Amino acid sequence: MSYLSLFRCISCGREYARDEIRYLCPECSRDYKPGIPLPGVLEVLYDYDKIRQIWENLKAIYGGADHIPLTELLRLFSPVSSLHFPPLPVGNTPLFKAASLAGKYGLGQLWIKYDGLNPSGSLKDRASQLMVAEARRLGISRIVCASTGNAACSLAAQCAAAGLKAVIFAPEFAPPAKLTQIMIHKAELNKVKGTYDDAFAAALAYTDGDEVLNRNTAYHPYTIEGKKTAGLEIFHQLGVPDWIVLPTGDGVILSAIHKAFLDLKRTGIINTLPRILSVQAESSDAITSYWESGVYRDAAQPATLADSISVKTPSNAHWAVLALKESGGISLRVTDREISRSQNELASEAGVFAEPSSSATLAGLKKALAQNMIPSDAQIVLLITGHGLKDIGAVKLEHS
Ligand SMILES: *Cc1c(COP(=O)(O)O)cnc(C)c1O
Ligand SMILES: [Zn+2]
Repeated sequence: MSYLSLFRCISCGREYARDEIRYLCPECSRDYKPGIPLPGVLEVLYDYDKIRQIWENLKAIYGGADHIPLTELLRLFSPVSSLHFPPLPVGNTPLFKAASLAGKYGLGQLWIKYDGLNPSGSLKDRASQLMVAEARRLGISRIVCASTGNAACSLAAQCAAAGLKAVIFAPEFAPPAKLTQIMIHKAELNKVKGTYDDAFAAALAYTDGDEVLNRNTAYHPYTIEGKKTAGLEIFHQLGVPDWIVLPTGDGVILSAIHKAFLDLKRTGIINTLPRILSVQAESSDAITSYWESGVYRDAAQPATLADSISVKTPSNAHWAVLALKESGGISLRVTDREISRSQNELASEAGVFAEPSSSATLAGLKKALAQNMIPSDAQIVLLITGHGLKDIGAVKLEHS
């Protein structure tokens, strides 16, 4: 059972029934070739009136919105029934106050959503869980994915749990721990000479016919719906924060967190949206410059120690910029030095060992505070997307 009503193209607005198409809007992607941001990414829309009725019933049953269990909330906004979910649980990660860091920067309320505690160590498990569920719904036994690491690790783990086959196309330079994760879960690993963008193209070429499902980020709309659950959990744990700070590579997490609150607003459960502070590595800043200038161009030469946000051509650039505008958000750049410093700070002052990509959130927050982009009395959530143990080679230890 799902309340999905249809797919809508974010570029042209055309609408499609579920199972009519699988990936991009056929009109907008007619001439698409890898090497540009995806045209015609699909947004999943729900029967919001129906969900509102059920929400009202749930309020009566549980004695108020605050007492409705998370599983009920997630069920309302999932495109695939949880009956199809693989048996390895995902999400429901903790949200807690970072009091010491808040004190250090004079902040009223700083929270950490620790998604590095997912089974394969990153937020990507949320998308992989849903893609495996979709494969099971369709009776498909093979899922292909291009990834610099985390999406592949999570797909490998979720497929292993469900008895499906994961086929991975990864650039050769992925961090060793991530390659080990992929291999120990017995996924098929194809190393691609070149960049993540080359791996993306290789995975698309492999997706020939209906016997394989493609989990490339933003290419399948459920990659966005899956990552959205992190936003629904933040709502369940805290309500609507003023700001959510997150790392941006392809821009799927950004769109997905925004979409979580947008779905709640469309249903009438909330009235306001959180603002999003998107943080990119200086050398991988295509979405930031697109947001600033209104004109898309590739990042010149992605070369950052934060491998999970190292992207030349972000797949979901168009939607990411729409989400930033709609949420009154901001996108900014941080240097690798700032990322390393924040990684040390998060670990030594909050006890949170975060991947470099995730550490970029604290670096970006410090920059935004220094430039008065965010008031210090705001309620702020840092989304820690991946665990630091995934890439110890990137760590630059600071000595106190
Ligand atoms: C993939 C990933 C990101 C970036 O997410 P996008 O959707 O590509 O913007 C950030 N942090 C971690 C740990 C990731 O694995
Ligand atoms: Zn379209």
